[in-house]
Amino acid sequence: MNRPIFTPDHIMFRDAVRRFVEREIAPFHAQWEEEGIVPRGIWRKAGALGMLCFDAPEEYGGSGETDFRYNAIVDEELARAQAMGPGFGIHSDIIMPYILRYATDEQKARWLPGMVTGELISAIAMTEPNTGSDLAGIRTTAVRHGDRYLVNGQKTFISNGILADLVVTAVKTDPDARHKGMSLLVIERGMAGFERGRNLEKMGLKAQDTAELYFNDVEVPAANLLGEEGEGFRYLMQQLPQERLSIAVIAVAACEAALEMTIDYCRTRHAFGKPIGSFQHTRFELAEMQTEITIARVFVDRCISELNAGTLTAEEAAMAKWWASDLQVRVMDRCLQLFGGYGYMLEYPIARFYLDARVQPIYGGTNEVMKELIGRGLENKK
Ligand SMILES: Cc1cc2nc3c(=O)[nH]c(=O)nc-3n(C[C@H](O)[C@H](O)[C@H](O)COP(=O)(O)OP(=O)(O)OC[C@H]3O[C@@H](n4cnc5c(N)ncnc54)[C@H](O)[C@@H]3O)c2cc1C
Repeated sequence: MNRPIFTPDHIMFRDAVRRFVEREIAPFHAQWEEEGIVPRGIWRKAGALGMLCFDAPEEYGGSGETDFRYNAIVDEELARAQAMGPGFGIHSDIIMPYILRYATDEQKARWLPGMVTGELISAIAMTEPNTGSDLAGIRTTAVRHGDRYLVNGQKTFISNGILADLVVTAVKTDPDARHKGMSLLVIERGMAGFERGRNLEKMGLKAQDTAELYFNDVEVPAANLLGEEGEGFRYLMQQLPQERLSIAVIAVAACEAALEMTIDYCRTRHAFGKPIGSFQHTRFELAEMQTEITIARVFVDRCISELNAGTLTAEEAAMAKWWASDLQVRVMDRCLQLFGGYGYMLEYPIARFYLDARVQPIYGGTNEVMKELIGRGLENKK
């Protein structure tokens, strides 16, 4: 499909990323899925190619250009190759904006060069065992003592949780206040009392490390506070739309790749003496999916342009997230059905697409919460 949002520079970048994924990631991904994690070396290789945090200012090794189209290209190429193990999107799309917007120059100088080269891997820790959707209900506390915070609490389901060197952590600096008591602290690998739990076993996204994190009297320098104390919730609300758009981008790319492989299969698989693609039911299935994916693609591309222009609203990002991820789950299910019994076999890529898709309506804010957010926006319009 023609995508007018991209310029020749983006197309060249996509070619380079595609070749990198084919050469450096795809051949090893099955092994990483077995190991439940990717090697740190792949981060450094991606950094060397300029695939990580390219919107960092030039003095820290980035391009100095904030253009989400480059992020989208990396997300799309990994999604279509079923290579979601390396959590590059979490690092560049989700954590990077917090560093860019709220970090001081001193913090940027400490963290950005390593984030660009892939020496420093980042994660964001909001979710806790007792609370996910209700973010203001977190219980991890950070109590200030002079120039340090003492952090106690626990996080769970943290992507890049095992590999991360920097964890942007949502903490309560005022446990009695809900939203206004939240702050963001960067907790670093090696700080005493910062422990990682298990690499959690998931039904999909097998090569991505997802971990529990424990903070027991971790002394975090006040110099690691991002932005202002008490503003954490507001910062999260400002940056979550980009995270949600990134999920939508992955969803549409995965749908396109799955449909393409399903169309090929329907041409070659025969039943009752003809290709299964020649049955009217199959043609309708493929036609409906192609239609819905095209509609999603147009909307998500529009959201990418709006994000770049600074006009993407939280509601639009929520629409893209819930619609595209719901579509992804439906498309994977329908495609898998067309593969018959082979679709149920893990050696068939469609089975992995199906398993990887299921988390998309859950993380980044559940799709139910997305609809709440859109609904509240409508209330406010009255
Ligand atoms: C693979 C994976 C990776 C993740 N990565 C990260 C990460 O890197 N960082 C991080 O912080 N978190 C991460 N998460 C956590 C994820 O964001 C949460 O799981 C998600 O926000 C839902 O929270 P919960 O699991 O506590 O579910 P709950 O909040 O307990 O929700 C349970 C159910 O109740 C519904 N519900 C809740 N509130 C409402 C409401 N108001 N109206 C209607 N329905 C509602 C939900 O939609 C859901 O269906 C990850 C999760 C997974 C599975």
